[in-house]
Amino acid sequence: MSDYQVEDNKLVGPSVTFESSPNTGGRFAAGQADTLVIHFTAGSSVESAVRTLCDPDNSVSAHLVIGRDGAIVQLVPFDMVAWHAGKSSWQGRSGLNRFSIGIELDNAGELTPNGQGQFLSWFNRAYSGEDVFCGVHRNQKTETYWHAYTEEQIKATFAVCQSLCNAYGIDTIVGHEEISPKRKVDPGPAFPLDKLRAMLDKERADDGQDDSVFEATSKLVNASRLNVREGPGAQFDKVTEPLSLGTNVKVLQQKQGWSQVEFTLKGWVSSKYLT
Ligand SMILES: [Zn+2]
Repeated sequence: MSDYQVEDNKLVGPSVTFESSPNTGGRFAAGQADTLVIHFTAGSSVESAVRTLCDPDNSVSAHLVIGRDGAIVQLVPFDMVAWHAGKSSWQGRSGLNRFSIGIELDNAGELTPNGQGQFLSWFNRAYSGEDVFCGVHRNQKTETYWHAYTEEQIKATFAVCQSLCNAYGIDTIVGHEEISPKRKVDPGPAFPLDKLRAMLDKERADDGQDDSVFEATSKLVNASRLNVREGPGAQFDKVTEPLSLGTNVKVLQQKQGWSQVEFTLKGWVSSKYLT
């Protein structure tokens, strides 16, 4: 289960802060994004990335920046378009900003060996071996050197992606390098993108099994306030006042981490707040 939740198009969870970027293209046309795009910042710190992505003189932004310690800064609400993908296309659609949530990871990007056992970023910071990943980029043929992501950062990224997929029914995660292969190399081979996709595919398959063997059961609300929505996702409108802790509900069906429940009314709630 993920440590993060989505409330009113904002991420809620450990070490999450919000700083508003003016660089947005308004609301998503269809009401929500259906794709996640993973990036690296190619920068020196979260602070410098946030400064750049919030500067009105730059036409760039992202929804989230995830630091090397796993701390997260959200810059744009999830129902608003951010400017992270640029010229891009994927499965017949172009201009992915209009369909996607952009996640930037604090990472220096590609590194160059200096011949003395260290590796240099484009901004000339030296990294030692333990911070370096050597591998073949999916769009290239030979081994190259990349700034390694930290375990905390990868863990936070996986958990956030899981929460966003559940909240918005998202089932496509791509790297910037896949939607703009001629211009971009992020997040690069140091990021376990295929593992992330496999983890989320497995979760969906497990959920599917739940559906087929499901029988109506009685459960208790285990959150202090539990929103009840018209459909299985945080993007659906609330149907009534939140349910309170200990309320008894009958679960009618389940779908992608959400349960349709009956009490005096009928609606959808996040399954993890039912015991
Ligand atoms: Zn990018």
